[in-house]
Amino acid sequence: MSTAIDEMTCREFVELVTDLIEGELAEAKRVEVEAHLGECDGCATYLEQIQQTIAGLRRLADADDLPRTREQALAAFRELKRTN
Ligand SMILES: [Zn+2]
Repeated sequence: MSTAIDEMTCREFVELVTDLIEGELAEAKRVEVEAHLGECDGCATYLEQIQQTIAGLRRLADADDLPRTREQALAAFRELKRTN
């Protein structure tokens, strides 16, 4: 299970997922995250849930209220972390 070099754990993935979505992840980390996604159904599903949550919030808030949308998205992440 942990034989691969620099293999990312699910915990690390969860910690990096907000940066990934916001496009703030360094290239090297992004590669690690994507490699983990390819091997881990749980994290792929988790990312999908978050992206759907964000898409839903953006629809609700419309494009004219982005700062609040971001706040709501971060609150939703915290909620997901608690329940997972
Ligand atoms: Zn994982």
